[in-house]
Amino acid sequence: MKSNPDGTFSDGALVPFGTIEINPHSSVLNYGQGLFEGMKAYRTPTGEVQIFRPEENAIRMQMGAERLLMASPTVDQYVDAVKQVVRANMRWVPPHGKGTLYIRPLLFGSGSVMGIAPAPQTTFLIFTNPIANAYKGTSTSLSLLVHHSLPRAFPGGTGGIKNISNYSPVFQVVKEAKAKGFSDVLFLDAVEHKYVEEVSSCNVFIVKGDKISTSPTAGTILPGVTRKSILQLALELGYQAEEIRISVDEFLEADEVFCTGTAVGISDVCSATYMDKKVEFKTGENTVTRKLFETIRGIQNGLTEDNRGWLAAMHT
Ligand code: PMP
Repeated sequence: MKSNPDGTFSDGALVPFGTIEINPHSSVLNYGQGLFEGMKAYRTPTGEVQIFRPEENAIRMQMGAERLLMASPTVDQYVDAVKQVVRANMRWVPPHGKGTLYIRPLLFGSGSVMGIAPAPQTTFLIFTNPIANAYKGTSTSLSLLVHHSLPRAFPGGTGGIKNISNYSPVFQVVKEAKAKGFSDVLFLDAVEHKYVEEVSSCNVFIVKGDKISTSPTAGTILPGVTRKSILQLALELGYQAEEIRISVDEFLEADEVFCTGTAVGISDVCSATYMDKKVEFKTGENTVTRKLFETIRGIQNGLTEDNRGWLAAMHT
């Protein structure tokens, strides 16, 4: 779908996956004016297909579009388009429990612009890909390297939206960390280099006793849909849940640490290394992380009834 001159979007078309043409003058190529989203379609034990909270992703894309001066589809247009694409790709949604269909919407400045300015036209497109969980749920614990100097986002910047340009600046440190055997990098705040922010593609929580905590998003951390859902589920399960700045010292003293995101689901963290000091956290059975993991997985996979209106069924 391409935006009209008044910033609205008309109906798009379903086309087979393939390369697209792009104007070399487009603002996405020249200035990185673009956003992406990530969602998953799950198959239930009875074979139906459902998508987890697509309206939340639509709203997040709208917030990002506002920040980057792009036209964006309405929430209804976004969700309808996602459903159309999933419907056309039903045969690629893996059987229950065997993986998911990852859904990747993109919104980018595609119109021709020569000066450094936002594009006059925006393109919205969606593609899908069947995947297994990036970190295979809690079966593979993460070992994180806490980066002491490079932040992921700056106050007043775009860390709070899914700006495509947020991701390539951390490729280098993540690659270096992986080469040393770490699973990923945990970034600290840009001002004091003291407070825990997020991992390169997921939010981070700590567990201390029966309290779970995560940093307030405050414009530098992506407001994850999984993060928001876990904060609510934790309260429903009787835990305390808070959004509070977490210093790296408090982080290293946590009982448990876990990451949340559409791709990673909920992944427990077995260790974190900060300034060459390695700390281990509790993982496995009988953890708060496991309880939260099983609760959200049950909802997403259709094992538990959805009484919160979180799932978009494909037959509607
Ligand atoms: N932080 C970053 C930087 C991310 O890229 C993601 C993945 N979208 C998340 C957090 C988690 O967000 P969500 O739960 O909406 O997938």
